[in-house]
Amino acid sequence: MSALPPPYAAVAATTKGFLPVDEGEALYDAARSAGPGLWLEVGTYCGKSTVHLGAAAREAGAHVVTLDHHRGSEENQPGWEWHDASLVDPHTGRLETLPHLRHALWDAGLDDVVSVLVATTQQVASWWSSPLALLFLDGNHTEEVAQHDYAAFAPHVVPGGLLAVHDVFPDPADGGQPPWHVVQRALREGFEQVQVSGSLRVLRRTGGVRPEPGSPAARLLVAVSGHPGLSAAELVEVSGLGEQFGAASRELLAAGLVTSTRFERSDCWSRTPAGAREVAALRG
Ligand code: MG
Repeated sequence: MSALPPPYAAVAATTKGFLPVDEGEALYDAARSAGPGLWLEVGTYCGKSTVHLGAAAREAGAHVVTLDHHRGSEENQPGWEWHDASLVDPHTGRLETLPHLRHALWDAGLDDVVSVLVATTQQVASWWSSPLALLFLDGNHTEEVAQHDYAAFAPHVVPGGLLAVHDVFPDPADGGQPPWHVVQRALREGFEQVQVSGSLRVLRRTGGVRPEPGSPAARLLVAVSGHPGLSAAELVEVSGLGEQFGAASRELLAAGLVTSTRFERSDCWSRTPAGAREVAALRG
């Protein structure tokens, strides 16, 4: 595993959080192997893991969005096991971790590589549509929210993209089970495990979104690939799809295989690297 280079290592070391050094280095290594594009971190806290992802994104040419409401999970609230009284905002009486994140990003020089999104995952799930080269799930660890976060964002992970999950404990004696359940679900839904480092699991999408050969989505993907610059009407003709065109194009967008469903000549839609790989596979 690779140590974080300066100045990131010093900033990560002094940033509050629950990421052991070896797991942080494993996250940094895994992220560097993810493609450029957009990476999403769910559960920022004070930004210790964000500094690791940001350092890797700087090298990989990626951009990180880090998502948190910044008022702490249940286990961070007063009276709970993982409470830190120094993080309480007297104005709200709740935790407030956003200023700590901002300081960490400033100190690490990562403001241009990381976009900070202050919201709940439920708020963001309703409008998120961007394909993800990497998804790091480390948010609320209740079964309901952990499953929600997976279901909301994992479908956006492109083929070949990475899914990292923190606090995975197969043995209930070691910790809560929801992240482990999320990993089990991902393994059933097109991801393969590529790395285990302590409680960090890294998986890669190897399937689950590839259109069935011969399906409307597969026909449309091949048509899109072979004829860049056609209008939607022309694509309907080339692909042989009539009424099925809209549904097929939305399926490709949800799978991260195209970047727009509009396909208009002036729209400058582009195929994604993942989409190009899928076309190669569909053509054999
Ligand atoms: Mg964690």
